[in-house]
Amino acid sequence: MERNIVKLQGLNIDSFSFEEAVEYANNVSGQVITLNPEMVNNASNDPDFANIINSAELVIPDGVGVELGLKILGINVKRIAGIEFSHRMIEECAKNQQSVALIGAKPEIVEKAKENLQKEFPDLYITYVHDGYFNDAEEIIKKLKIRQPRLILCALGSPKQEEFIFKIKKDFPDSIFIGVGGSFDVWSGIVERAPEIYQKLCIEWLYRTIKEPKRFKRIFPTLPLFVLRVLREKFIPKGV
Ligand code: UDP
Repeated sequence: MERNIVKLQGLNIDSFSFEEAVEYANNVSGQVITLNPEMVNNASNDPDFANIINSAELVIPDGVGVELGLKILGINVKRIAGIEFSHRMIEECAKNQQSVALIGAKPEIVEKAKENLQKEFPDLYITYVHDGYFNDAEEIIKKLKIRQPRLILCALGSPKQEEFIFKIKKDFPDSIFIGVGGSFDVWSGIVERAPEIYQKLCIEWLYRTIKEPKRFKRIFPTLPLFVLRVLREKFIPKGV
């Protein structure tokens, strides 16, 4: 299966459907990025971060913002929720008897997420768990090297998780890594995912902001800035 890459703000995005992305990820190793508008904005200020995205083996458009940005450019790509994609990849590992590692979030949260996933998928083998508040990654890398999990989920928030994965992926030629943001919080049951109506209307971000008003500061400049940048990309040719 070949990648069919589209570009937004100079960044690669794969135009796979959900099922195609799962099939592709099942057959490759490396880094999966779940791209949202905040990350696109960060990449335009940080060439190293842009390079991490463009070196990734798979970039999925997570969230309605990226879908909208591409639509402005006349490209139709459907969003793939990163949390659903990661959940499905866990299911694939359980089905194919491949092991999984969870790195990130607070200690009690990642343990609870492990417990709940294990209940949901009795055949799942979670070979390694570590919280996301560490100073020395060496110990974690050493343990991962011994266990060689097929799927390594990192919930450190962005850009920390993408930078961490980029740094270590070369040592794991048979693993696939996904930066999963706040997914462990949801799987632990401690943070609720937005009700279905919000998911259907693609406004999960609004629900999260209502529940956690301090997110407003993050969301508010992000979306308008992102849309402005994309409009500039559409109407003002490069170099003008
Ligand atoms: N987190 C972590 N280590 C850190 C910073 C954050 O493990 O140094 C975890 C945090 O506990 C949370 C996750 O990263 O579980 C993602 O946080 P956030 O909801 O901000 O991510 P988003 O999905 O919004 O990018």
